[in-house]
Amino acid sequence: MAKINMKTPLVEIDGDEMTRVLWEVIKEKLLLPFIDLKTEYYDLGLTNRDNTNDEITVKSAEAVKRLGVGVKCATITANTARQKEYNLKNLHPSPNATIRAILDGTVFRKPITVNRIKPSINTWKAPIVIGRHAYGDVYKAAEMEIDGPGKVELVYTKPDGTERRAKVADFSGSGIVQGMHNFDESIISFARACFLYALAEKLPIWFATKDTISKIYDGRFKAIFNEVYETEFKEKCAVAGISYFYTLIDDAVARVVKGEGGFLWACKNYDGDVQSDMIASAAGSLAMMTSVLVSPSGVFEYEAAHGTVQQHYYRWQKGEKTSTNPAALIFAWTGALAKRAELDNINGLADFAKHLETATLKTIEDGIMTGDLAKLSDPPPQKVLNSWDFIDAIASRI
Ligand code: NAP
Ligand code: MG
Repeated sequence: MAKINMKTPLVEIDGDEMTRVLWEVIKEKLLLPFIDLKTEYYDLGLTNRDNTNDEITVKSAEAVKRLGVGVKCATITANTARQKEYNLKNLHPSPNATIRAILDGTVFRKPITVNRIKPSINTWKAPIVIGRHAYGDVYKAAEMEIDGPGKVELVYTKPDGTERRAKVADFSGSGIVQGMHNFDESIISFARACFLYALAEKLPIWFATKDTISKIYDGRFKAIFNEVYETEFKEKCAVAGISYFYTLIDDAVARVVKGEGGFLWACKNYDGDVQSDMIASAAGSLAMMTSVLVSPSGVFEYEAAHGTVQQHYYRWQKGEKTSTNPAALIFAWTGALAKRAELDNINGLADFAKHLETATLKTIEDGIMTGDLAKLSDPPPQKVLNSWDFIDAIASRI
């Protein structure tokens, strides 16, 4: 069979641990036999990030900006334990935070649903998609340890040197302090990206903050979202029959677990981080959640929502063929290939991406799955396979 040709390369961003191991297997068994795969490769494995002083991470994000579509493996966010484990010179920030800060934009996370896996919230009839603002707040905060009594203030210095101050706290002893920020421009693109996604997917849209407590900070998010809705999207949403609903974040959480699902939940950065794990787990498994970063300049980066599956990796290193679920990694690739196909107008590539998704879902629907899903499957599985055999089972269905 002739291989499918590509025009523009994908930006391929490799990562760490178990996901790095599976990345290779997916390429070898599910992609390379069918596609004349063109990628520009960036190795974001922890050692290479350390060796390049994290420049490789910045380069990979710039490549996504240049070429338009990237696919990323999960990566370790270094901490002191990892510094020892990998003998690192420095502790660089989370690669995802670095990439998101460069590309800006919004991360959309959507559960991969299959009939055999019922959500643990039995009122949910359709998946909930999370739209996570990918810039700022606690992910770009300045933090300080306060070691004794004193006053802490926020100081804003204008270009002409004039200052505005706000007192944070008078410390009588030691403590901690944090200053965070966001830009109107970034919040506007977040709102726009969410409304555009909701219109494209025909989903109602919810947004929530804590503006009763954070009147200026969260108040600004609420006001900007409302303004973008009123000025740009109200009519389009009305025509498409899409509603926009604003509420407080605690009210939203309560409604989510009592509701029927089937909407886009626009979340501030931290809320999106936390709630996407809740949605993924309640929908079935963290291994069944896809993630795409959509930047306001129209570039796309696809990844799995889960991490590097560290404990499975240690078992693999000892020789075990683990039963790690590759579905979200496969869907990261299919998402990226389908987007590349759309931008470059390659029907064969778009069809292939669809076939690979269908083959993956079909395998699970046939009762053949990895251990994480076996526990949830109703009816119970026919076969529980290790990742390698599971990927072979998918390949046989393409
Ligand atoms: P994780 O890798 O997502 O794994 C947490 C647990 O979820 C696993 O121990 C496993 O449970 C289950 N799980 C996740 N993905 C799975 C899969 N594909 N198949 C089967 N089970 C799966 O999160 P973590 O252990 O908190 O983090 C590990 C590393 O990943 C950290 O260094 C972190 O910095 C990094 N991380 C990276 C990203 C990213 O690059 N996007 C995101 C999050 C975390 P069982 O052990 O019970 O089987
Ligand atoms: Mg998280």
